[in-house]
Amino acid sequence: MKFTPAKPALTGETLETLTARLAGRGEPAFRARQILEWVYKKRARSWDDMTNLPRPLRAWLGETFALLPAALVLNRQSADVTDKLLLELEDRSLIETVIIRVPQEGVGLEHSRKTICISTQVGCAMGCVFCASGLAGLKRDLAAGEIVAQLLQVCHLEDARTPRARAELASFDNIVVMGMGEPLANYDALLRALTIVNAEWGLGFGARRITISTSGLVPKIRRLADEAIGFRLAISLHGASDAVRERIMPVNKAYPLAQLLPAVREFHERHGRMVTLEFILIEDVNDSLEQADLLREIARDLHAHVNLIPYNAVEGLPWRRPSVLRQEEFARVVRTAGVSVTLRREKGHDIDAACGQLRLKTEKAAPGAPGGGAGS
Ligand code: SF4
Repeated sequence: MKFTPAKPALTGETLETLTARLAGRGEPAFRARQILEWVYKKRARSWDDMTNLPRPLRAWLGETFALLPAALVLNRQSADVTDKLLLELEDRSLIETVIIRVPQEGVGLEHSRKTICISTQVGCAMGCVFCASGLAGLKRDLAAGEIVAQLLQVCHLEDARTPRARAELASFDNIVVMGMGEPLANYDALLRALTIVNAEWGLGFGARRITISTSGLVPKIRRLADEAIGFRLAISLHGASDAVRERIMPVNKAYPLAQLLPAVREFHERHGRMVTLEFILIEDVNDSLEQADLLREIARDLHAHVNLIPYNAVEGLPWRRPSVLRQEEFARVVRTAGVSVTLRREKGHDIDAACGQLRLKTEKAAPGAPGGGAGS
C-alpha cells in the first residue's frame, strides 16, 4: 500500500525539514526559503531555472529530490469549461485532478473563478457503490508531495494560459479535496500537504478556501476538528437515513448517522464554519421526497449547506440520474424552512468528470500502459 520513490519529492518538504536537510550539508538557513520560492512563487520547471543558487547546490538538489513527482499525461477540456488532468506518478499510477471554471459576467473564460479538485489516493477502499474511483479498490495512498504536485501542475498550466498580474499568486480560487480517494484515510499526508499549500513559504493559500470532503470517518473528523488550521468540511452524505446510506455507502455500517452527525456538529462548533452536505441524487435510490424531508431536518439541525448533485452515469454501473423535474422537486422540499441548497448543474459531463472515470477508461484502454491493473 505504501510506495517508496527513488527520491523524495521536494513538494513534500516543509520549510523546517528542508532547512534541516540543507544544514546537514553546511548550507545557510536562508537557502531553504530561496528554494521554496523558486518552486511555489517563481514556478521553476527545472533545477537550472534556480539561477541564484550555486551550481553544486543545484546538482545536489537534483540528485536528492524529485522536483515534481506527477507528470501531466492528458488534459481533457470539456465544452462546459472543465479540465480533467490525468497525472502519472513515478510508479506509473494514474491520478486525476480537475479544474472547474465558473464563468464571470463581463470577463473572458481565462479570468473565470477556478476551483481545483485534487486526489489523495490511487483508487479508494471505501466501496461506495456508485463511484468509479472505488471500482478497482485502493492501490495506495498518495504522499504529501504528490498531493501538492497536482496543484503545482495546475499553476503551470494556468500560468501558461493567463500570465499572472502578480507572479506569486496561486492560479486558482478554491481547492476541494474531493477527487479520487477518501482524504481522511490518508490523514497525515493530507495534513502535511495542506500545511505546505497554506504556508506563506508555500502556495500561501488560505485555509478557508480549502474544503476537505469525507465519506464519514468519524474519528478522523473529530481529529480534524482539533487541528489549529480551520479548513472547511464537506460530508458525502448521499443518504438521509441509515437504511438508504448503508445501501450505497459501506462506511455507514462502521459509522452510522447517530455517530456521524454529532461529529459534524462538533466540527462546526469548533471552527464556526458552515459544513456542506453533499448529496448525489440517484434515481429510485435516494431521490424520494421522504429522503428530502429527512435531509432538510439534518441540514437544519447542523446549520449546514446542502449541495445536490445529479448522478453522473458511470459505465458498467446500473445507477441513473433522476429527471430534472424530480431534482427540482427534491431541492424545493429541502429548501423549505430556510435551508441553503444548491442544485448543481454539474460540469464535465462530456469528459468523464465523475471521480475516477477518466483514469478507469485510460487503464481499460491500455492494460499494459501506465497505471494498468491499478487497485486489483
Ligand atoms: S465516493 Fe469517495 S469515498 Fe466513496 S468510493 Fe468514491 S472516492 Fe471513495
